Amino acid sequence: MGKLRFDVVQEAFKKKAIVVEVPEVKTSDYFGALVFGREKMCKYLSSDVFAKICDCIDNGHPLDAETADKVAAGMKTWAMEHGVTHVSHWFQPLTEGTAEKHDSFMEYDGKGGMIETFDGKMLVQQEPDASSFPNGGIRATFEARGYTAWDPTSPVFIQDDTLCIPSVFISYTGEALDYKTPLKKSIKAVTEAALPICKLFDSKVKRVYCYLGWEQEYFLVDEDLFAARPDLMLTGRTLMGHASSKSQQLDDHYFGAIPSRVAAFMRDIEIAGYKLGIPLKTRHNEAAPNQFELAPIYGEANLANDQNQMMMNLMNPIARKHGFVVLFHEKPFEGINGSGKHNNWSLGTDTGTPLLAPGKDAKGNLQFITFFVNVLAAVQKHNALLKASIASATNAHRLGANEAPPAIVSAFLGKTMTDVLHKLLEVPSDTPIEIAGKKGRNIGLVEIPEIFVDNTDRNRTSPFAFTGNRFEFRAVGSSANCGGALSTLNAAVADQLIDFKAAVDKETATGKPLNIAVMDTLKPIIRSILDVVCFDGNGYSDEWKAEAARRGLDTETNVPEMFKAFISPKAVEMFTRVGVYTGKELQARNEVKWETYSKKVQIESRVMGRMAINHIIPAALAYQTKLLKNISLMKEDFPSEADAMSATQKELVRQISALVGDINTKVEAMIAARARANVIEDEYEKALAYHCIAESLQPIRRSVDQLEEITDNDTWPLPKYREILFIN
Ligand code: ADP
Ligand code: MG
Repeated sequence: MGKLRFDVVQEAFKKKAIVVEVPEVKTSDYFGALVFGREKMCKYLSSDVFAKICDCIDNGHPLDAETADKVAAGMKTWAMEHGVTHVSHWFQPLTEGTAEKHDSFMEYDGKGGMIETFDGKMLVQQEPDASSFPNGGIRATFEARGYTAWDPTSPVFIQDDTLCIPSVFISYTGEALDYKTPLKKSIKAVTEAALPICKLFDSKVKRVYCYLGWEQEYFLVDEDLFAARPDLMLTGRTLMGHASSKSQQLDDHYFGAIPSRVAAFMRDIEIAGYKLGIPLKTRHNEAAPNQFELAPIYGEANLANDQNQMMMNLMNPIARKHGFVVLFHEKPFEGINGSGKHNNWSLGTDTGTPLLAPGKDAKGNLQFITFFVNVLAAVQKHNALLKASIASATNAHRLGANEAPPAIVSAFLGKTMTDVLHKLLEVPSDTPIEIAGKKGRNIGLVEIPEIFVDNTDRNRTSPFAFTGNRFEFRAVGSSANCGGALSTLNAAVADQLIDFKAAVDKETATGKPLNIAVMDTLKPIIRSILDVVCFDGNGYSDEWKAEAARRGLDTETNVPEMFKAFISPKAVEMFTRVGVYTGKELQARNEVKWETYSKKVQIESRVMGRMAINHIIPAALAYQTKLLKNISLMKEDFPSEADAMSATQKELVRQISALVGDINTKVEAMIAARARANVIEDEYEKALAYHCIAESLQPIRRSVDQLEEITDNDTWPLPKYREILFIN
């Protein structure tokens, strides 16, 4: 590849931004054009059908077959106006990304011709030949069918020539085989558990909503440089590569001017996103070179998560038009920031009251404190589980690796809220909680300063941070489906809220006024969370690791081991109680998690071995041969001075031999370890074996990176960090 690398680098560097086709109308005019939302339903459905589908979406009432047929007919008319020819249930299996199986609208018309058809049955249910999706043994061959069923709460959309129907994916026996089903169940659990508590404060509340605002971080890499790196192509990250002399130490990338090729790409994905009704709001450079972020306005959690998946699907095909590849891997490059997907999470009522923001008066503030404290109690109780919910082979490179987030789930409250909680413990339970300044008096009150929302200080090292009107679950990986983390968070919070409501009811039954009953119930919880889960210091420090262990927080760093939290009796009981997962589902999903972990590490290990042997060693030996030739020539031409003149060359020859030998030995050991791991039947045990293999990649990398440092730049076959990270 030698010379070729330079050609590729030159070509990549010369690429210019392409002109983006911007619609001639303003954004609000085409926003949602490719989504069958309410406005379209109103236009394409009769008023009684429209009313029935709205009732189904808003109140969860079932849709009868006749109405489903009519809805399908309206969708078909709309879709065909957009040149759509195919239809697909669009679902989120336990792999990365989404799945779809396209069927055309075509049917025989019985008169020798063809006709486009799409009816209620096709809309509501499909039976994908799905025996090859991960299922953790739930689908034995005799029950190999899987079913996808329409989720009417997420609107149907058009992708190219296909009408996509957001769907859940379940087994013949009803177990969830996807991320959407448990997410929906968890939203139901947490909003239903929150409702009776809201009613204590305001009898007019009829419904609670769960919100998600995701922030998607990603890297862009020039596609030609990407193609020259087998590791990026097959694993999504660089398995080797010496650090660039300049990386992110100047802090000049975060919020820097967006390079023109990147800006064109961003414009393009925004246009595509807007057409799909995704309210994209923020775009900026992230901390690392060639790292960026995209975030929409938050929305209802199930829909927001679908929209995140839709964006992830869109980004790569559009990036290719701009000569880029998008990397969603959590840690594509060593030594610089990795990518996360912050999940901004909150609850709110149908009366428009946010439940995790200070209220309008003392009562509202008490409601806020109630939810705030209970969320933290849930995070404390299930901290090991929440960590397991974001753990993966790829996110493992962020977890505990001296970068956000540490492998300990604690919560950051900021000074204001920490002070408020301490004060609440000191004052009588009937002390009103006021927002300072609003009432012009502050004696005897527990104050929440008005500037509070803008004042939430940041702690980038915290995996779970309060940010004024929401919690930000920062530990979620950039490649993850938010459903995994949110199902766990929602379930844990639901469980806690149920217990809390029961405790308050007990107190009020004795005749205590509500505010005192609530505060009396909250106080021991506040004491406990301040002692255990709340931590405002540096989450990366070694002192914190020791302190967290002392506090009883989970400090496990081994990913396959972390997954065990999901099948602990405590977790099974909690998930079953709130109706999010059954014990069978938890076991099956863990099998999938372990299996996926092993396979990912297996692929990395194979790629590492092959690259080391086929790319790196030959390049190093070629350079060594050059050195040896130089030494020979030296002897011929300068016989008396040759020894002194060839000292450096000889030293390099020795170093290369040593490193090549070292790499070869380590690769052989890794291959042998793989052979031993591959015969292990039990998925958990196998994943543990693969965890050791994952750790063995690092020493190989060290030697390869040292070779990169001393090997002739001309001979080095792989695009270097300085090239991949700085060309855009
Ligand atoms: P930052 O990087 O400072 O955290 P961003 O603006 O990049 O902030 O992202 C914040 C995300 O949080 C956005 O998606 C925003 O819509 C979302 N968000 C704001 N308020 C809430 C809320 N109450 N509930 C859920 N998400 C929210
Ligand atoms: Mg954020």
